[in-house]
Amino acid sequence: MAMPLWAGPAKPPQARPAAAAPAAQPGPCDSVMRRLPNVSRTLCTAAGLQPGSGRSVRGVPLYTRDVRQEGAKLRVLVMGGIHGDELSSGSVAMHWIALAMQPAQMPQPVHWRFVPVLNPDGVMQQPPRRVNANGVDLNRNFPTPDWERDAASYWEKRTRKDPRRWPGKQPLSEPETRYLHEQMQSFKPHLIVAIHAPYGVLDFDGPSVPPSKLGRLYLDQVGIFPGSLGNYGGVHKGVPVVTIELPNSMRTPLDAEMRQMWLDLLRWMGEKAVGMGNAGR
Ligand SMILES: [Zn+2]
Repeated sequence: MAMPLWAGPAKPPQARPAAAAPAAQPGPCDSVMRRLPNVSRTLCTAAGLQPGSGRSVRGVPLYTRDVRQEGAKLRVLVMGGIHGDELSSGSVAMHWIALAMQPAQMPQPVHWRFVPVLNPDGVMQQPPRRVNANGVDLNRNFPTPDWERDAASYWEKRTRKDPRRWPGKQPLSEPETRYLHEQMQSFKPHLIVAIHAPYGVLDFDGPSVPPSKLGRLYLDQVGIFPGSLGNYGGVHKGVPVVTIELPNSMRTPLDAEMRQMWLDLLRWMGEKAVGMGNAGR
């Protein structure tokens, strides 16, 4: 066999300096979800979060997980961590992913979409912050009618320009709210469950009969705010929004309590919301 005319210098396998390789993006279980209380690595890994299409202001993926039970017609969107300093809300969403993946004794099959942390930039701050990286309260940034008139005046007069409650310059100005808005348009949920803390109550906006309790949380409808998800989804889009206010921002309820809340949610969905999935919206 003829010798090759030219043989290049042998390249050692490590010739490329390590710094030239693109930095590996840390996965959700090495970054955002590590901030959440009572979320073990095992639970996080099993949750199978996907980066999805959305990014925060700082470019963190808005991790999402779909759990679709066979034959599901009912679509339910569960969202936590819209306020970055309500860490327990993301934890409960993560525990509910695990429950949704268990073989179901549900009254009806459900297509779940979980967004456990909508505001990862706020969660990642030390200490965690309610608002996103642009200083916007994401739960005042949804396009309710007359937002331009009401959101700013509410902020100025009712909150006295509380920087924790700034609604932003315009509705959907933030990538995080745009992502959730897109999910509402494409996924077309029949029900939205928004998890917050720390007021220890249950709130409800929209049609249908609200659940009277989830676990130890009882219904106490506290009114609506310009630009809030409950106002936008429940009042103006006709999608029922269950807002859960956990009793503590930094600690989750006990596992048994999180499970009881989940079972109460399923039972209410079976009793009152069964028509939602059959409406074929
Ligand atoms: Zn909140």
